[in-house]
Amino acid sequence: MVKQDGAAIQAAARALRAAPRVLVATGAGMSQDSGIPTFRDAAGGLWARYDPEELATEAAFRRHPARVFGWYAWRRRLVRAAAPHAGYHALVALEGLVPELAIVTQNVDGLHTRAGSRRVLELHGSLERFSCLDARHPFPADRAPEPAADTECEPPRCERCGAPVRPDVVWFGEMLPEQVTAEAWALAASCRAMLVVGTSGLVQPAAQLPLIAREAGATVIEVNPDPTELSDAAHIVCRGRAGAVLPALVAALTQGATQ
Ligand code: NAD
Repeated sequence: MVKQDGAAIQAAARALRAAPRVLVATGAGMSQDSGIPTFRDAAGGLWARYDPEELATEAAFRRHPARVFGWYAWRRRLVRAAAPHAGYHALVALEGLVPELAIVTQNVDGLHTRAGSRRVLELHGSLERFSCLDARHPFPADRAPEPAADTECEPPRCERCGAPVRPDVVWFGEMLPEQVTAEAWALAASCRAMLVVGTSGLVQPAAQLPLIAREAGATVIEVNPDPTELSDAAHIVCRGRAGAVLPALVAALTQGATQ
């Protein structure tokens, strides 16, 4: 395993350069440098007394719909006020430097698409979409209430069946969207290099993707300031923040290409 900083970046650039197909898998840590907290970073204010992993469940929504809907409205405001950092732009540039690249994200913040990445698979849905709780009828986003301040907020009702409307994200304990998942799994099994950025590897089944890629012979590169459950499966570990490591990686790739 290559671990040392400069050497790891160079080794990662070589692996990406040699790969006809690259898969990038991102988690909450990818958005940390844009000021969007991971679940493990304590939230402030009204939400500090709740455990985010306990708000992100169907049971919590059924028990306290206004609390959960209000928490998601707060997260949406946070995301809308944030901008993609340099690491996001580096991934857009990377798309132009390798023959084929796709991004599979566990994030629900839409920042990859806002940055300009073209092939983004959202495994856990999106904060900007809504559907009803029971039948999953789509609900128009422009009719969802958007409280201006941190507060609980009663969800609207589905216009077809009257069920409460929820954010169209995958909650803990729920199945992933079938088509996106099938595509992500196929990409993991067929990529030659996989860049794993800002995920703890604790949330299943997304955490399987790097293991599938490794098993199929891809070079697995981890970008994370801290060791994770996936570090042992990585061939190359770049210890650092996504906002710094990804631009450095793309710079190394670009320099290598012109040498
Ligand atoms: P996680 O919170 O379990 O782990 C975050 C990882 O990011 C950690 O390993 C941490 O060391 C790393 N990290 C922290 N700062 C970083 C940085 N600047 N650069 C790179 N890495 C950094 O995240 P997860 O594995 O994605 O699982 C959490 C679940 O919560 C997912 O389902 C995700 O959908 C959801 N979530 C999403 C968002 C979002 O959309 N932005 C935010 C919070 C949680």
